[in-house]
Amino acid sequence: MQKGTIGVTTENIFPIIKKFLYSDHEIFLRELVSNAVDATQKLKALAMKGELKGEVGETTIRVSADKDARTISISDYGIGMTEEEVQKYINQIAFSSAGEFLDKYKDQLNNIIGHFGLGFYSSFMVSKRVEIDTLSWRDGATPVKWSCDGDPNYSITKGKRKERGTTVTLYLDDENAEYAEESKINYLLGKYCKFLPVEIAFGKEKEWKDGKEIETGKDKIINNVSPLWTRKPSELKEEDYMNFYRELYPMQEDPLFYIHLNVDFPFNLTGILYFPKIKEKLEISRNKIQLYCNQVFVTDSVENIVPDFLTLLHGVIDSPDIPLNVSRSYLQSDSNVKKISAHITKKVADRLEEIFKNERKSLEDKWDNLKLFIEYGMLSDDKFYERAEKFALLKNCDDKYFSFEEYKLAIEPNQTDKEKRLVYLYTTDKEAQYSYIESARSKGYDVLIFDGQLDSHYVNLLESKFKDSKFSRVDSDYIDKIIRKEETPANNLSESDTNFLSKAFESVYPTYATFGVSVENLGEESAPVIITQSEFMRRYREMAALNGGMNFYGQLPESYNVIVNSSSPVISAILETKEEQIGDLLSQIEKDASNPESELKVLKEKCAKLKPEEVTTEDRDRISSLEKEIEQIENRKRETIKEFAKSNVLINQLCDLSLLSNNILKGESLNRFIKRSYSILK
Ligand code: ADP
Repeated sequence: MQKGTIGVTTENIFPIIKKFLYSDHEIFLRELVSNAVDATQKLKALAMKGELKGEVGETTIRVSADKDARTISISDYGIGMTEEEVQKYINQIAFSSAGEFLDKYKDQLNNIIGHFGLGFYSSFMVSKRVEIDTLSWRDGATPVKWSCDGDPNYSITKGKRKERGTTVTLYLDDENAEYAEESKINYLLGKYCKFLPVEIAFGKEKEWKDGKEIETGKDKIINNVSPLWTRKPSELKEEDYMNFYRELYPMQEDPLFYIHLNVDFPFNLTGILYFPKIKEKLEISRNKIQLYCNQVFVTDSVENIVPDFLTLLHGVIDSPDIPLNVSRSYLQSDSNVKKISAHITKKVADRLEEIFKNERKSLEDKWDNLKLFIEYGMLSDDKFYERAEKFALLKNCDDKYFSFEEYKLAIEPNQTDKEKRLVYLYTTDKEAQYSYIESARSKGYDVLIFDGQLDSHYVNLLESKFKDSKFSRVDSDYIDKIIRKEETPANNLSESDTNFLSKAFESVYPTYATFGVSVENLGEESAPVIITQSEFMRRYREMAALNGGMNFYGQLPESYNVIVNSSSPVISAILETKEEQIGDLLSQIEKDASNPESELKVLKEKCAKLKPEEVTTEDRDRISSLEKEIEQIENRKRETIKEFAKSNVLINQLCDLSLLSNNILKGESLNRFIKRSYSILK
């Protein structure tokens, strides 16, 4: 970018056009072909009004290029221009409006570069000379030839053109010579002109003859003049929509559903949107909606025109009311654009609701591929959530689908806890959490599947929206505690046994994660030891991971809860062995501890009644020496239990089995488990 003040006058407008105005040089062809289309349609309009004498006749617009001569020409049979019109439209209006425009915006030239079209003059971005040969439709008009070589001096002479219409010829400059290549023009026409409403020919059809590809005499038409979105929905079949999708996106899998948009008030908008199959990876499917203005392709980055989640859709939007030639930041605040955006969201929701009501089976079949899109919409757009509540589906472990309302009614009788909260159980991995799912199902509970890319956010969202409800992953605790119906039966063991079990199990769990042990009564039928992971902690970790993992929760090691089932027969067996092997030793240790403990208790009670300054040094010292003594005894006890636990096959085997059923038994621990298991089999 050059610095300095740009005084805009007609003298220096060309260098400005060339250097600054367009980041996208290639749009020149779109502009010239659109002008030819306009001229042709104006002619047709005159014929309709009966103002044209004679026939409309041929209207095909021809684009041709000569690679060696470095020229491109665009030729139409439209209304043409008289000399006055060339003076007015080409010399004066375009010149002066461009001049005024630049004058007005010169301070913001940076912002507007590439964002507005100068129509005809964009041809100077790529040419050193441009010529117009034209003959007006008017009676007795004479042909005009206009020529301009890149500075404001132009010449107008009498032309030789015989047929009505206009030919614009570009003499490309050295830097832009590549635009005369056939492949380049094919690419540009394919990109910008594919759906223009007047036939456009470039080159000739080819055919195979005697093993060679030869040109036929037939024009090759590069566009489809009545693309599907311009036609009446009532005349179209599902197959037409699918074919059009394939025309737009030749390499894509067929879409799931489509919507035909057709609005004429308060703004004009037509289009067809498709719901593509979306599995994982949101990013790659972005930016596929193509935006047209009266069938002229404008852009396929529509981020500011439709809400973010709708950019996952594919298809075409055509509106003369979207201000196309302005900057994106301007688009965002444009009130028309806002209305259009809200309208499209509404239409998408309407269509999904209609599918839910009339084609429920089809919605269920396609749900897994659609859900990412809908969840994204619900998460990012409150209005869409309100609509989607009616048609969003939940899927359970039997692959059955429910609406929110249906599911609530289904689980309400059985899954309401004693606090009158409705508990939604879910799994994020049917295989890995199999045993937890089974234990929930054995109680008659239902388990949902939330295994998608956005599901951890989605679960939070639903929990915040559903009244008096909570969501718990099946392995977040033992099932009777997740859905608490009555007071859980108390732990049936003595304090000393409970204490022993906690210490014994704590000592055998590996150190690659944090394992906190508790002893609870899960009933005889339940497993002797289970591992759970707190719903709260897990969700925080997941969120942290999704957000880049750099916060406090993301850095904590995984932490699990180990629950030892006090009423399991295997646990009773362990307690018996403990009695046999270290029972005496432990009672001796406990006895040793009882004297200092009771002395400490008496002393502390005594001191508690006094003010801190009244406590004697003697008492203070005694307390601290008693505490030390007790700590030593405690350590002895812990060591004794640890020794015992280490050599106890049952404790080790239970620990490993609990890890194994959570898929977290690994490395050395896994190896030891396998060895131990073999030796048990011997
Ligand atoms: P716009 O198309 O936005 O009006 P342009 O600079 O592209 O701006 O064209 C200026 C005017 O020149 C057009 O409005 C039209 O009157 C005239 N014009 C351009 N190309 C043609 C053509 N192929 N046939 C007839 N008139 C044309």
